[in-house]
Amino acid sequence: MTAMQWFFSFLKKYRIRLITALFLVTIVSGLATVNPYVSGLIVDNVIKGGERKLLPLLVAIVCGTTLLRSVLKYIYLYLFETSSQRMLYSMRDCVYRRLLEQDFNFYNKNRTGDLMSRETGDMDAIRHFVAYVIYAIYENSLLFILAVIMIFTVDVKLALCMIAVLPLTVLTTAKQLKAIKPTFHNIRQHFSSLNTFVQENVSGNRVVKAFAKEDFEIEKFQKENDGYRDAELAATNMWKKYVPIFELLANLSTVILYLVGGIMVVNGTISLGKLVTVSGYRWMLNNPLRMAGWLANDYQRFITSVEKIYSTINVEPGIKDPAHPYKKHKLKGDIEFLHVDYSADDDVILHDINFKVKAGQTVGIIGATGSGKSTLMNLLCRFYDVTRGEIKIDGIDLRQYDLYNLRDNIGMAMQDVFLFSDTIEGNIAYGKPAATLEEVKTAAYIANADDFIKELPDGYDTIVGERGMGLSGGQKQRISLARALLKDPSIVILDDTTSAVDMETESHIQNALKNIGHKRTVFLIAHRISSIKDADLILVVGDGQILESGTHEELLKKNGYYSTVFHHQYGEFDQIQKDRQKGGLRYGTK
Ligand code: ATP
Ligand code: MG
Repeated sequence: MTAMQWFFSFLKKYRIRLITALFLVTIVSGLATVNPYVSGLIVDNVIKGGERKLLPLLVAIVCGTTLLRSVLKYIYLYLFETSSQRMLYSMRDCVYRRLLEQDFNFYNKNRTGDLMSRETGDMDAIRHFVAYVIYAIYENSLLFILAVIMIFTVDVKLALCMIAVLPLTVLTTAKQLKAIKPTFHNIRQHFSSLNTFVQENVSGNRVVKAFAKEDFEIEKFQKENDGYRDAELAATNMWKKYVPIFELLANLSTVILYLVGGIMVVNGTISLGKLVTVSGYRWMLNNPLRMAGWLANDYQRFITSVEKIYSTINVEPGIKDPAHPYKKHKLKGDIEFLHVDYSADDDVILHDINFKVKAGQTVGIIGATGSGKSTLMNLLCRFYDVTRGEIKIDGIDLRQYDLYNLRDNIGMAMQDVFLFSDTIEGNIAYGKPAATLEEVKTAAYIANADDFIKELPDGYDTIVGERGMGLSGGQKQRISLARALLKDPSIVILDDTTSAVDMETESHIQNALKNIGHKRTVFLIAHRISSIKDADLILVVGDGQILESGTHEELLKKNGYYSTVFHHQYGEFDQIQKDRQKGGLRYGTK
């Protein structure tokens, strides 16, 4: 499917409305020929011919057609406007759904600002085309043709002289269309870039302030702003070259009319009334000539936007449902990684990963930063597909599952916590909107978040800012943990979820997790040994491979990476235990 076919697939739904509207445009344009014709009759028959009794009838015709044209114009404008809004509604919806279907790779490669421009500025160019440009092109072409026909009926020689400028107009329009195309691509590019810049700076404004980089950002913004202005000006400059040509051609036909027509009246070849009639058709001839450039501009803007939107969404998601997806309402949670490799852009990120977990077990994952821990979990959620080997859940390859079904069975608290600007209750219940407040509170209690939430001014109804602004890092992590648990999933993934909470809170969370354990398979990614030491299986990941695996005791005996890390952290861990026994130091939990 081409970009234009894609556009027409939306327009098709409104074809009856649009055809009706175009039919009304035809009538209105046809009626436009009446008044100049009647004006000629008034001059020749009433003023010069003295047939006074004809006057009321002719005036009534002029008034009647004017009124009818206004009413019909109102109706067709309404039809075009409503069709454009309705069509845009479904187009926006389709683009948004398509964006949601895309995988992580798509979002890694596309900038948020660009995607937002597709849904806003580009959509508006399309709306303008449907609401205005379609009928304007049709109406102007029709008026021009009707004017030519009418002038021909008056006098062939005069008509031929007047349309002598037509080939020149067609040529200029074609030239302008070709010349302006790259400038519109450039405008869209700069608009997206400006959008991305503003979006990133607004969301990252705390970093800008923390580093006192306002001046630097203003300077960068000015460059973006300059780029966008220059792109718009380049299009205007291009356009400026063509405006005088269109004006000249339009005025030339007027000059020809009065020159040639005047001579003909003087010579008696045509009557004065006929010249008045032709003069009345002059605007029908000039207006399209004048509008040709503007409409070519709008048309090119529209084409660019359709192409931009279509090229953004016409990307097949890398992660798709299989042809015959396997659905199982509730997964058990047996998991097996078999010779799993994952490479991205020729970089081997994970290599030959093998491990097996039984449903209800807890797996601790530890390893240096950048070693591939999060990637391992991303593969389990099918955010990316393995490049070799397979991952099985309950004995079935991950790629055979219905994607929605699979992810619905996984509760994930991601390393990079994202909260929506909503209430705390809304954020926790995100994965299960029908959850009762009691269920939300239970999940929050397990995540050790209930205490601090209750102390907030509006409790569970407190609205958190964008990305959870207004909450501490540890508070956000606990809300994200509660959100993962509330879904009651078979598999829970906690990626560094307790890294920002103090050890005392972490131990509360772990005790609570133990109580709900056995029902679900839990993956705990952590840097602190204290977070994972009780796990049934601990995987030590290093450089994309599993370096060691086993229980805490087994790994300590191996005297490898795990044991080294344990001894490094042990002092801290031992101190906490001692403090606890003394009943002394308590860490705050808010
Ligand atoms: P941390 O402890 O800091 O969270 P991690 O063990 O979770 O680290 P990963 O996020 O899994 O590390 O990343 C492992 C490596 O793979 C990193 O070098 C990262 O840059 C790279 N990586 C991960 N995903 C991709 C991807 N889609 N494309 C390219 N590189 C990737
Ligand atoms: Mg990580």
